Amino acid sequence: MVAAQDSSGAASRVAVVGAGIVGVCAALYLQRDGHQVTLIDRQEPGQGTSYGNAAIISGTGVMPVATPGILADVPGMLLDPLGPLAIRWQYLPRLAPWLLRFVAASKSSRVEEISRALAALLAEARPAFKTLLDAAGAPEMIVERGLLAASATEAGLKSVEKKRKLLERRGIAVERLTIEEARQMEPGLSRDLVGVHYYPDNAHTIQNYRLVTLLAEDFVKNGGHLQRGNVVGYDVGAAGPKSVKLEEGTSVDCDAVVLAAGAWSKEAGRALGAAQPLDTEIGYHLTLPDPALELRRPVSSAEGGFICTPLEDGLRIAGTVELGKLGMAPNWERLKILRENAARILPELNFEGASRWQGFRPSMPDSLPVIGPSPSLPNTYFAFGHGHLGLTFGAITGRLIADLAAGRPPTVDVTPFRADRF
Ligand SMILES: Cc1cc2nc3c(=O)[nH]c(=O)nc-3n(C[C@H](O)[C@H](O)[C@H](O)COP(=O)(O)OP(=O)(O)OC[C@H]3O[C@@H](n4cnc5c(N)ncnc54)[C@H](O)[C@@H]3O)c2cc1C
Repeated sequence: MVAAQDSSGAASRVAVVGAGIVGVCAALYLQRDGHQVTLIDRQEPGQGTSYGNAAIISGTGVMPVATPGILADVPGMLLDPLGPLAIRWQYLPRLAPWLLRFVAASKSSRVEEISRALAALLAEARPAFKTLLDAAGAPEMIVERGLLAASATEAGLKSVEKKRKLLERRGIAVERLTIEEARQMEPGLSRDLVGVHYYPDNAHTIQNYRLVTLLAEDFVKNGGHLQRGNVVGYDVGAAGPKSVKLEEGTSVDCDAVVLAAGAWSKEAGRALGAAQPLDTEIGYHLTLPDPALELRRPVSSAEGGFICTPLEDGLRIAGTVELGKLGMAPNWERLKILRENAARILPELNFEGASRWQGFRPSMPDSLPVIGPSPSLPNTYFAFGHGHLGLTFGAITGRLIADLAAGRPPTVDVTPFRADRF
């Protein structure tokens, strides 16, 4: 616990490492509690994985990536480098420990537990954003128009129906539409689809990168300090971290540290006890500046493992999973999955001038983030490993970290997210 003020009345100093959506939201919530917060990043805010995601604030994200039967899919993932879920076989030996835990998390009983924990976080995810966006004067950044899940094949439809059962067990609304009903909502959808489901509880942001930067600006406006620098270590005393050391030779003095360095949290936080099985699921995006059709709400592809989201500056097609290594060179061939499957569900799309991006999801094998104190150091909090849902869970993670730092009972039970669960 970090008191907001020390015995002389000075505000306690909290250093947040990583200015992605998670770190920025943690910095804002800690600031609201009266801490003097320094947000440290080697880049400008929002230029890590938070830069290029699919912009979805999920209302349905209760399904872990590993589900029963995943083991049988592993050979296919190794053999098809262009599948929606692929493994770069060169990295198999290095990935093996993570993969074993990933498969262990796919047991039916574990999937139920994981989905309950995710549902509890989801219930608070949007209200936590609302608090921050209202305070920043930008509530319009999030729109609530649901999401359409389009299936172009019977196999795709079957996978959506399988997911539907789990969603309904968690009380999440799913509606099966006729193709004509779906086309009334989104006239650009293909007439050849075999099925469309509607998830009314989904929301999205109109621009995910601008969301991070405007929240970072609000943090600075309220007296927060942004520090550019590459974190290389910590000076640690009996009461925990005393300063954060930067490669540039300077350091940031502090009374507490929050580690929110996304996929890089293990390397940025080893000295803080961050030895969790964090790895990366690599994803890609295409952003079409002139898509030639207007979507009112996001549309996902059951076959392609991606989502098409209307942003204020174009249409984003983002997703797929490639298990490899942090920093691995992009395999731009994988954009074929996005291009071909998107054209199947939205045949009029214009890909001209599309920009491309590769991003590193910070992924735990059980699809649950790490939110809680370090197992080995006082005054040290972990906020990483959000995998496919880091945007969705950014604000609620920030709120929970502030609760934990203040010694307040967190509004969501954080036991499933504890750092020492493996
Ligand atoms: C293709 C794709 C689509 C996605 N779609 C969605 C979606 O629609 N909805 C959703 O909820 N999630 C989605 N995600 C996941 C989401 O983008 C991530 O989970 C989220 O961005 C992680 O945020 P973060 O703040 O933890 O990490 P990041 O945004 O990566 O931020 C970490 C920061 O730490 C900094 N850093 C790292 N190491 C150091 C160091 N040593 N010193 C200083 N700074 C350091 C980095 O520079 C970076 O800015 C998607 C991901 C991908 C790849």
